[in-house]
Amino acid sequence: MPRNDHLSIIPINMKIKIFFLLLSLSLSTFAQTSSPSKLVVLSSYNQYLAAIKTNPNNELIEIKKAIPSIKLDIRYATENNFMKQVMYKQARAFARKPVVESLKKIQKELNKKGYGLKIFDGYRPYAITVEFYKKASDKNFVANPAKGSKHNRGCAVDLTLINLKTGKELVMATPYDSFSAAAAANYEPVSAEVKKNRNLLIATMKKYQLNVLDNEWWHYDFSGWQQYDLMDIPFEKL
Ligand SMILES: [Zn+2]
Repeated sequence: MPRNDHLSIIPINMKIKIFFLLLSLSLSTFAQTSSPSKLVVLSSYNQYLAAIKTNPNNELIEIKKAIPSIKLDIRYATENNFMKQVMYKQARAFARKPVVESLKKIQKELNKKGYGLKIFDGYRPYAITVEFYKKASDKNFVANPAKGSKHNRGCAVDLTLINLKTGKELVMATPYDSFSAAAAANYEPVSAEVKKNRNLLIATMKKYQLNVLDNEWWHYDFSGWQQYDLMDIPFEKL
């Protein structure tokens, strides 16, 4: 007598159900181990509009329109960047609504001290992050497309301080997008002046929920970035 003959008491349709249940369980286990999290990138403009309808904070606001006094130097719209090529067709900067509200307060506070912000980059379409990763010599300074960048979520800004009277950038430890150890936010062998400038920038940003990235003094992530989707909507559509 076969050992599994006791299964014969289970009706055939039940056996089929059990088979598919076990199959789906094993497949989901396999899926979890092979790809821990499926990356969602919002690339449809209509989906973006729907997301704003659900939560107005999802809107990507043009920074210069909300804060006319802010200076822009959108490097990726020029060849003056680590890619040495034009990556953006338009020299514009965007960020999610609460991020821009923070920037507005930061600009106001800095202006009282005779300083202002200069923006290098804000929201970055996901396709550009993929291009960066392909070309970057040092992968420590570019986001891995498998995870995406907080720039893709409209929740990161790259910027520096300027002197309001001269319009010139304050001296910092490195130029923007320098792939060097000196770009670290806490890099020590710097002059007192650099330290003062960097501290002012980092502390003022932090006060309004924008936190410096450890290895890039110019990059700030907005607290709560996890609530915002990665996006691949080009500037021309915004
Ligand atoms: Zn950045």
